[in-house]
Amino acid sequence: MIVIGGGLAGLSAAVALAEAGWRVRLFEQRPFLGGRATSYLLPDGEHVDNCQHVTLGCCTNLEDFYRRVGSAGKIKFFDRLLFLDPQGRTGVIKAGVLPAPLHMTGSFLGFAPLTMADKKSIARALLHILRGKGRTADLDEPGGISMLEWLRTRKQTPGAIERFWRVVLVSALNEELDRTDARFGVDVFWKAFLSNRTGYRMGVPVVPLAELYDGCKAEIERRGGEVNLRMPVRAIHFRDGAVTDVEFDDGRPETADAYVFALPHETLAELLPPEIKLAEPSLAHLENIGVSPITGVHLWFDREVMREPFLTLLDTTTQWIFNKTALYGAKNGGKEKGQYLQLVISASYDLLQKPRQEIIDLCLVEVRQAFPAARGANLVKATVIKEAAATFSPQPGVDRWRPIQQTSIRGMFLAGDWTATGWPATMEGAVRSGYLAAEAVLRLAGAPKRILQPDLQPDGVVGMFVK
Ligand SMILES: Cc1cc2nc3c(=O)[nH]c(=O)nc-3n(C[C@H](O)[C@H](O)[C@H](O)COP(=O)(O)OP(=O)(O)OC[C@H]3O[C@@H](n4cnc5c(N)ncnc54)[C@H](O)[C@@H]3O)c2cc1C
Repeated sequence: MIVIGGGLAGLSAAVALAEAGWRVRLFEQRPFLGGRATSYLLPDGEHVDNCQHVTLGCCTNLEDFYRRVGSAGKIKFFDRLLFLDPQGRTGVIKAGVLPAPLHMTGSFLGFAPLTMADKKSIARALLHILRGKGRTADLDEPGGISMLEWLRTRKQTPGAIERFWRVVLVSALNEELDRTDARFGVDVFWKAFLSNRTGYRMGVPVVPLAELYDGCKAEIERRGGEVNLRMPVRAIHFRDGAVTDVEFDDGRPETADAYVFALPHETLAELLPPEIKLAEPSLAHLENIGVSPITGVHLWFDREVMREPFLTLLDTTTQWIFNKTALYGAKNGGKEKGQYLQLVISASYDLLQKPRQEIIDLCLVEVRQAFPAARGANLVKATVIKEAAATFSPQPGVDRWRPIQQTSIRGMFLAGDWTATGWPATMEGAVRSGYLAAEAVLRLAGAPKRILQPDLQPDGVVGMFVK
C-alpha cells in the first residue's frame, strides 16, 4: 500500500490502513509531516505554526485521529469564546444551564456588541435552521446559493451580518459570505451551535503543530510500514485502466497493490495525464475548485500584553488573536517575560498584495487598540505568513467538482480535504477523507470495515426530535 502526501488526509488513511493490517509506505515531499496543518523553524530559529489551527467539539474524526496517534492530550478545549469590539464592548459565547438548543440563550442575550434588533433577526434565522434540522429548502437549489443570499432572504440586519454571521463563518469556512455555499454556513451553526451543547467548544493545540504527528510515524513503523520524507512523487503511470507505479526524482518506480493520493487538488491535476481525466470524469474538473487565502501575523512583545488565551476582534482586519505564550504554558519556570501572539486573518484577499511591514503596522495598531498594555510594550520581532491557497474555496455548488475517494481506475484512491466529504476545508474534512479512502481500500479488498466516526449526537430538546 502506498500513500502519497503526509498531510492529515494521508496520515489518517495511512494510520487506519496500518491498523487494519496493511504494510503502508508513505511518501511526503517535505522534510516534515502535517502538510498545511504543521509547524516549522524560521531562519531565526523560532518555531512557528503554519498559522494557528483550531478544532471544534463537533470534529469527531479529528478527535479520533488524535486519540489513535496519542495526541489527544496535546489539545486543550475551551468552552468560553470572547469577542471584543473597538468601543471596548465584549461579548461571550458560552453554554449555560439550559439544554440544546437554548444553551447559548443567556450569553447571546448579553452579547453587548449586538443590538436587540440584530439579536431578533439572528434568532429568527437560527429558528429556520432548527426547524429544518440543519437543512432549509433553498439550500438544494441547483448550483447552490450563497450564504449572503440566504441571510438576506431571512432579512438579517447589517449588524447581525457583520458582527455575527460574518465573524463566525469567515473564520470557520475561510471565504466571504457572498462566495460561500449557504449549505456549509448553515451546517456550521447546526453542528457547532444548535444541535448539542458541546459542538462549539474550541480545541487549541498546546504544542507546535508538528508535535501532534510524532505518533504517526511510530504507529506506521510499528506495524511494518515506513514513512519517507523529502520524497516528492514526480509522475503517476497508468496501464489498462490501472495505476502501475509512481515515480520519484531518481526515476525509480515504486509499486503497490493500492495507492492513496492525498495530494492538494492542484498538484494531482498536474500529475494526471489527459487520458486519465477523460477515463475518470470525476477527475476532469479539479481546476474548477478555487482556493482562498489566510494570513497569519506573528508578534513577539517584550512583556505581557494580553491575559486571555484567545480573543476575536470585531470590525477590524485582525480576526482572531491567540496568546501562544499562555497556550504553550510557562517555560523557564514561568520566568519568561515576553509574549508571543499569533493573529489570524481568514479570506485575506486584501492583504495578498500588501507589503509585510504594512500588514504588521496595521495589526499592531489594532492590537494596541484592543489591549492597553500593548501600548507601552515594545515589539521585539514580527513575521507574516501569507498562504494564498490556504484552503479550497467553499463556493456555491463546489461540491459537484469534489470527487469521492474511490475512483474507477484500479488501485487509485483519493484523499484530501477537497474530496467529497460533505465538510468544508478543515482538518476534520481531511481526516474524514483519509478514513473514507481507507474504507474504500478495505471494501475493494473484500475486508470492509467502518472507520469513519459518527457525528456528535443531537442532545437536549433537539435530541428528542432528531434521531
Ligand atoms: C493558514 C491555514 C490555517 C488553517 N486553519 C485551520 C483551522 O484553524 N482549523 C482547521 O480545521 N483547518 C484549518 N486549515 C485547513 C487545514 O490545514 C487543511 O484543511 C488540512 O490540513 C488539509 O489536509 P490535507 O491532508 O487534505 O492537505 P495537505 O495538508 O495540503 O497535505 C498534502 C500533502 O501532500 C504533500 N505533497 C504535495 N505534493 C507532493 C508530491 N508531489 N509528492 C509527495 N507529497 C506531496 C504536501 O507537502 C502535504 O504534506 C488551515 C489551513 C491553512 C493553510
